[in-house]
Amino acid sequence: MKITSIDVVNVKLPPREFSVAPRRESWNETDEVANPMSWYSHVKRHRSLWTNTGWGQVWAKVTLEDGTWGLGSTMHGRPVAAIIEDHLAPQLVGQDGFAIERLADMMFRMTKFYGSTGLASYAISAIDLALWDAKGKALDQPVYSLLGGKLKERIYCYSTGNDIDWYQAVGFSAHKLACPYGPADGLDGLRKNVELIAKTREQVGDACEIMLDCWMAFDVDYTVRLAEALRPYRVKWIEECLIPEDFAAHAELRARLPWQTLTTGEHWYTHVPFQYALKHDLVDILQPDIEWVGGLTTCIKIAHAAEAAGKKVILHAGARTPYGQHFSFAMAAVPWIEYFIGAPPGIPLSESTWLPGMAYAVDGWLEIADAPGFGLGIEESWIEPYAS
Ligand SMILES: [Mg+2]
Repeated sequence: MKITSIDVVNVKLPPREFSVAPRRESWNETDEVANPMSWYSHVKRHRSLWTNTGWGQVWAKVTLEDGTWGLGSTMHGRPVAAIIEDHLAPQLVGQDGFAIERLADMMFRMTKFYGSTGLASYAISAIDLALWDAKGKALDQPVYSLLGGKLKERIYCYSTGNDIDWYQAVGFSAHKLACPYGPADGLDGLRKNVELIAKTREQVGDACEIMLDCWMAFDVDYTVRLAEALRPYRVKWIEECLIPEDFAAHAELRARLPWQTLTTGEHWYTHVPFQYALKHDLVDILQPDIEWVGGLTTCIKIAHAAEAAGKKVILHAGARTPYGQHFSFAMAAVPWIEYFIGAPPGIPLSESTWLPGMAYAVDGWLEIADAPGFGLGIEESWIEPYAS
């Protein structure tokens, strides 16, 4: 089934309407989160002070010769659109759109001369996801069926965010907090981090899991000191403490914290760093982002390698997209799914999904439907030519 076109597009989603008023602002709007730029006081207060590029979301639309089309989304609009339009799309049009492993390998190799990681990886992801969506639609099969079928009828969700009272109210029993302070805040910040986890343990009791996301803010020494201070509160895992490319630091951290479950991977691109992490036993749980790492094809490679090595994969923000949901239902290495909650407390989960009609967690569990492709539910009339 030949690819006839690959276009960069915008998808104009219907505006969200909430049936109730929020109880308060979301943590995502208000809370300070430790990050690699926390050392710079003028942007320390909130990540949005330095991450806003205006690039925004961008989609790839793949059309096959029978007229079937599929959609894949990613981030960092304008430069990613250029990589798709100027380079990847012209090389892929005319190829067999069902030969996705071949196309993924071509894109991985084709971007070598300027680097397959970073922005190129976002572009590759959008095309790869669109190819899987189109293939599923053309064969009238949900993508999880193309992967071998559902391994589970429902999947356990953990919440991500710092509005714990709300997540408890809607039925979650595992919670990942965004760490507010890091090395830039000294001993006082370390003490406040410990106080937050102690308070959360008291709030949720012993029957709930607590995890901590450190968003690349720490160094090895700070991570070790914090982990040791948090040990009485039984934190299930500590996530993404280090600068992603610093593999020597990851190895040192593993050696200094053999008892602590360590996770990372949302800012690793292509399958290669995951392969290295497995080979050198750097972390316990791999966390690729399906819209960033290279798409579904790359995530499958990572999941199979992890399973063979006796490790787990829990996608970054897996429940946020139908892509992550389909993958997580079909892979044996995936025990849980991350449920990021950026909407304010009080807004029902059914009303805060990214796409209208998307599956959402009920009492901390998720089930998905059997619509063909990824079941995105996007009308063709919502698709517009790309404009940055
Ligand atoms: Mg994270």
